[in-house]
Amino acid sequence: MEKPKTKSAVPAAARSNLRDAAKRKAKTPARRTRYTWAEISEIFRRFHVQRAEPQGELEHVNAFTLLVAVVLSAQATDAGVNKATRALFAIADTPQKMLALGEAKVGEHIKTIGLWRNKAKNVIALSQALIRDHGGEVPGDRDELVKLPGVGRKTANVVLNMAFGQPTMAVDTHILRIGNRIGLAPGKTPDEVEDILVRIIPDEYMRHAHHWLILHGRYVCKARKPDCPACVIADICKAAEKTTSLPAPLIPIEPLEEAPA
Ligand code: SF4
Repeated sequence: MEKPKTKSAVPAAARSNLRDAAKRKAKTPARRTRYTWAEISEIFRRFHVQRAEPQGELEHVNAFTLLVAVVLSAQATDAGVNKATRALFAIADTPQKMLALGEAKVGEHIKTIGLWRNKAKNVIALSQALIRDHGGEVPGDRDELVKLPGVGRKTANVVLNMAFGQPTMAVDTHILRIGNRIGLAPGKTPDEVEDILVRIIPDEYMRHAHHWLILHGRYVCKARKPDCPACVIADICKAAEKTTSLPAPLIPIEPLEEAPA
């Protein structure tokens, strides 16, 4: 016998609320963050006011040169990498051209950067892998990116964020420090901090959150001595070592005012 068709016992409006509740639950801040939703949202709103379109500071002309620059930036400053890559990218901005240049000449260009011998090897090996496995294109997929020589999760996240506009969180030394210092995302490893941040940062701020946190760490919440009087979130911050609770005026910052790290 055919089962009678019954209407759901839950009215449509209630079902909608249940769906919303489920969504909220899925987005509930990880237990370890010390901030409420309202505080987290306000922190990123202020970062957005300061820098509506933050840019990375590694110079590049396409996804391939971005990938190479990020690989070279491990344990090096962006300014140091830019100095070395300007001439290199002028003559080799594709995997094919990089391969044709060869490891020795790549090494010549980058020998002012730490670990340059190993990095030159990786640049050539990743150019070969891109040509062999991806038709010379940089893949917009984390699993594929981390298979490339010299490319780890952090590098893949930077490339996915900057070249493909994906809402990833590449946890570098600045973000690891801020996450722990202010209790936004305490974690022993970059992966732990990344895991918390991607869950707590509101979707509308996720695209630029990585750059906002890096710039905040580089110029304000600095490693040795945080510059709390210059900090726009000083009133919200829960760091034990903050020196003021008076936030700095919230005004847009021109990119040119930023000095290279
Ligand atoms: S108030 Fe000080 S410790 Fe807190 S985020 Fe700002 S600079 Fe960092």
